[in-house]
Amino acid sequence: MTKSCAIIGSGIAGLASAIRIASKGYKVDVYETNSIAGGKLNEFRKNGYRFDMGPSVFTLPQLIDELFVLCGKNPRDYISYTHLKTPFKYFYEDGTVINAYSDVDKFGDEIELKTKDTKKAFKRYLKDIETKYKITNEVFIENSLHIAKNFLNKRTAYGVLNFHKIDAFKSMNDGNKSFFKDRKVIQLLNNYANYVGSNPFVAPATLNVIQHLEINLGTYLPDKGMYSIISALVKLAEEMGVTFYYNTTVEEIITEPDSKKRKVIGLKTKNHELIKYDKIVSNMDIYYTFKKLLPKEKAPEHILNQPKSSSLIAFFWGVKNTYEKLNTHNMLFSADDETEFKSVFENNTLSDDPSIYIYVSSKHVKDDAPVCCENWFLFVTVPNDQGQNWDELVVKARKSVVEKINRILNTDVEKYIEFEETLTPSKIKESYLTPFGAIYGNSSHNKFAAFFRHSNFSKKVNGLYFVGGSVHPGAGIPLCLNSAKIMDKIFKA
Ligand SMILES: Cc1cc2nc3c(=O)[nH]c(=O)nc-3n(C[C@H](O)[C@H](O)[C@H](O)COP(=O)(O)OP(=O)(O)OC[C@H]3O[C@@H](n4cnc5c(N)ncnc54)[C@H](O)[C@@H]3O)c2cc1C
Repeated sequence: MTKSCAIIGSGIAGLASAIRIASKGYKVDVYETNSIAGGKLNEFRKNGYRFDMGPSVFTLPQLIDELFVLCGKNPRDYISYTHLKTPFKYFYEDGTVINAYSDVDKFGDEIELKTKDTKKAFKRYLKDIETKYKITNEVFIENSLHIAKNFLNKRTAYGVLNFHKIDAFKSMNDGNKSFFKDRKVIQLLNNYANYVGSNPFVAPATLNVIQHLEINLGTYLPDKGMYSIISALVKLAEEMGVTFYYNTTVEEIITEPDSKKRKVIGLKTKNHELIKYDKIVSNMDIYYTFKKLLPKEKAPEHILNQPKSSSLIAFFWGVKNTYEKLNTHNMLFSADDETEFKSVFENNTLSDDPSIYIYVSSKHVKDDAPVCCENWFLFVTVPNDQGQNWDELVVKARKSVVEKINRILNTDVEKYIEFEETLTPSKIKESYLTPFGAIYGNSSHNKFAAFFRHSNFSKKVNGLYFVGGSVHPGAGIPLCLNSAKIMDKIFKA
């Protein structure tokens, strides 16, 4: 008889898991609370504009491609993307503008031209983060940390012998300061801590590997926007026989005692007391998986109560104008990043001078905005939801954002805003069932943070697996896809 598996949640890791398990011959059903797939990787359309409203920075596209190859399909029949030649443009309060080029020689020349640092120092830095990546990737990202035999191979031995090179005992900021003297370069590199919702003045310098993905390996953009990743994966999953149940919240994972330990027998939804399955993969945040779906299991409180990542206040603007000065991805930096991160992580509030990220997908995807218009998705970093007054903070954020944009781009942007939508930590919490609206799960401040993420399988319940940004190896599209890949390696078919 064909074996069955339920996936709870259709985030990027849930979809990758559905495809991987369907390719093993299982009958796979995906349950999703929302009316569409994708979770935080979401989009919306209004007045002729389309907005990606979650991830916008896309690296390691091969992790998407390999899902199609696994199913015997050509990825290019489903999705195409472009390697961005100038992935980012960085704006500073003193008028300096640094272009990040995918050609690292050109990027090095730009650093030498616009800052007090040298191309040589930049190239040395890129080599260092590549080394860190090689030491950590196989041990911490591509395999389970919760299976003893994974520590008994050559790669791990290499990792252990080279442990001193990953700078686990320095902060990202101190790591960056050891290569550069110009605060502009250090701020640019510290900014990558935002990619894991953490503070670069606290998080270990090991995390400078994040820059390796973007600067050394390249930043990509799907030619039809980020949400086309989800459309392509849903199409592939359906072709593999996966069934999607939208607007359906799973309320409990049902287990029963087995000879040695418990095992899953199925799940409960509002309309069904028990739908039987041989295996279950939860893509729901691990905190809620234990608190809501497994009320009878003892929860691993020390893991669930780890400090959470930051969140954001975002604005989506239909802009009736075009801005030549802007790139697809842009950062308008705070005048003082140390004070900015202190406000978010120590004072638990929005900085008085937040850095602003502006993503204009219509620069690349022409259909994303009407002619002579642009779709701006901009955000500032804020703490996760601890009951702050978000209405007040949205007003404060908007004022800072408008003033900084007008100052740096020499414009009067409000004249051109056709409409505006907002996203806050409390909306993120409700929309994607994300605890505290923390967009990257646990923060990465603790140098042992990797060991405080939940494993991709249950040690107590047979047939139960966990994937997504809240479990090993962490959040962001590449890591979520790796969580599904690790689950696949340990899935007992
Ligand atoms: C605004 C924003 C910007 C970001 N920018 C980037 C970026 O540039 N690059 C990057 O790589 N990452 C970025 N991220 C992070 C990235 O989006 C996430 O790490 C990733 O998408 C999380 O995927 P996931 O598989 O964990 O599932 P989620 O996206 O968390 O989805 C989980 C899904 O499960 C569903 N669900 C939960 N519980 C149940 C239940 N009981 N029953 C049924 N369904 C359920 C939810 O409705 C949801 O659809 C960003 C996130 C946000 C919010």
